[in-house]
Amino acid sequence: MQVELAACAGFCFGVKRAVDMVYEQLKTGKTIYTYGPIVHNEEVVRELEELGVRVINSKEELLALKPEGKSATGAVGSEEDGADGKTQGTAVVIRAHGVPREIYEILEKKGIECVDATCPFVKRIHRTVEEGSQNGNQVFIAGNPGHPEVEGIVGWCRNEAIVVETPEEAQNLSFDDKKQGILVAQTTFNYKKFDIIVEIFQERGYNGSVVNTICNATEERQKAARDLAKKADVMIVIGGKHSSNTRKLYEICSSECAQTYYIQTLDDLSLVLPTTVRLVGITAGASTPNKLIEEVQNYVRTNF
Ligand code: SF4
Repeated sequence: MQVELAACAGFCFGVKRAVDMVYEQLKTGKTIYTYGPIVHNEEVVRELEELGVRVINSKEELLALKPEGKSATGAVGSEEDGADGKTQGTAVVIRAHGVPREIYEILEKKGIECVDATCPFVKRIHRTVEEGSQNGNQVFIAGNPGHPEVEGIVGWCRNEAIVVETPEEAQNLSFDDKKQGILVAQTTFNYKKFDIIVEIFQERGYNGSVVNTICNATEERQKAARDLAKKADVMIVIGGKHSSNTRKLYEICSSECAQTYYIQTLDDLSLVLPTTVRLVGITAGASTPNKLIEEVQNYVRTNF
């Protein structure tokens, strides 16, 4: 029996960069917070928590955070001594899919160090919508309005952004003839859906610019997962249960391979493999660390 890992699986460039930045910060002895969980993977977040990294879950928690030298109440805010016994300060790491502009302003006002791990691809969207809206353009965002990345993008617009999630919503929009428009997309938005929305915009007389800001990492992972699932007898998809890109990989693999497992860690895997199984395929979401992928690979190789 063979075990094959999808050609593209696990941490994408932006997530790897963000997680590495948190580990780098830990070396400084500062008290480290991340604004929201650094990745949608409970294992990674738990490991970082064990190393002392705390998560700020909301703007309110950030507002309550006390910078160096002050004590605080509640879940966040106390200062701790660094390795040398002195207080080293506090840093808040901004996660890969970014935050609204307002969060940077709060950090600056409070005098708390900001370590910006926003993925450069997301940062580019922030710049595009900020400049565009400053010039009076109407910003449209193809994406899920409840996703933190989209909330972050909306937060960089200087006027009111319009979020469009479905073709039906695009059909029902009314365009302002006097304003130029800019249409961008959430980095993980579905390519096909984006094309359909662009088509509807154009049919309805939209004459603004379209900037396709969808990131390849998602598409590459999905394509590699599909290719592998087509030929595998069993597929294992590894990733956090809150990770939308892992769930999508699971859906794709299930449609190609009837015996597909969705696991968070090796502990969730109860594999029964008949002797007829020739190929076990493995893939993982963009927030799944290599360590977990290797553990699962080694387990299947050693036990079957
Ligand atoms: S999916 Fe793309 S945009 Fe999002 S963090 Fe990864 S590399 Fe950056």
